[in-house]
Amino acid sequence: MKMNVLIVDDNQQNLKILGNVLKEHTDYGLAFAMNGEEALEYLSKSLPDMILLDVMMPGMDGFQVCEKLQESEETADIPVIFITAKSEPEDIVKGFNVGGVDYVTKPFNEAELLVRINTHMELKRSRDMLEEKNRELTDAYDKIEYLALTDTLTGVANRRHISNLMGKEVSRCRRNGGTFSMLMCDIDFFKKVNDTYGHDTGDYVLKRVTELIQGRLRGQDVLSRWGGEEFLVMLPETAIDDAVVAAEKLRTTIEATEMEFGEHRFSITLTIGVATYEKELGIEKSIKKADDALYQGKQTGRNKVVQAVTKLRNSI
Ligand code: GH3
Ligand code: MG
Ligand code: MG
Repeated sequence: MKMNVLIVDDNQQNLKILGNVLKEHTDYGLAFAMNGEEALEYLSKSLPDMILLDVMMPGMDGFQVCEKLQESEETADIPVIFITAKSEPEDIVKGFNVGGVDYVTKPFNEAELLVRINTHMELKRSRDMLEEKNRELTDAYDKIEYLALTDTLTGVANRRHISNLMGKEVSRCRRNGGTFSMLMCDIDFFKKVNDTYGHDTGDYVLKRVTELIQGRLRGQDVLSRWGGEEFLVMLPETAIDDAVVAAEKLRTTIEATEMEFGEHRFSITLTIGVATYEKELGIEKSIKKADDALYQGKQTGRNKVVQAVTKLRNSI
């Protein structure tokens, strides 16, 4: 990749000399500015890989320009080499303090200047590459994390993900009080869908059911694919009565929606077991209660919502 250098000097002759040295010995792209304002104007449109900066200029001096560059995230990482006739130790120290990476006094030795420029350019190139690799790594990590937590077919949370989220919800309830409920939803006679219309249609139904359920939930609710044709929904801050109402909405939505895949038209139903998290039981046993309620619904006719038995209430 071509690296670019911006040279800033109020003296036309100096610009020419520096430009010619770089043109002759490097393949860097070159840009020029005659003062600080012009340099900043250029930098607002284009970001070079290095700036060679004169100090004494009318208007803003080089130190001020460099300070300004440090303030913006975009320009703070561009290496600045001061090239100046100011050669007092305090000038040099100031140059580094305002953010310069190197300081060369005029008249400069051509070979030395080139070595310094090339060294800093190489550092810049390595740093850019490292940043790029870092970004790639972060992206890959995000992707892996997404894949590890997501059901491939439907794109909703998988079993592991909702289990983690329930664990977090339990901690939250412990801190703030409150509770959450869960719905164990299972498609009725799903095997028959596969057997009658084929596996592709079965897959389509799973995706469509996911969409339909998601469309009826609140933003804070979590839908997961718990297993084959089983979906577990977590409803934060929801007591059992409201959870039953939510489940009933899901059931009627699925029941009322015609599935259309290719030439196939048919409808399906859902049976849903509803339970509230009970801290005496813990997560697993609370889920088991929703599962038991679901089983009861399957035993007693399907296409229904069944509330788990709690100490206080009986199933509906
Ligand atoms: P019930 O009303 O008692 O729940 O009956 P069912 O037929 O829905 O339940 P059963 O457990 O007998 O069958 C579930 C079927 O779900 C069997 C399995 O092949 C199918 N299945 C599981 N995962 C997938 C999937 O990813 N895609 C498709 N197309 N089918 C799946
Ligand atoms: Mg089923
Ligand atoms: Mg099942």
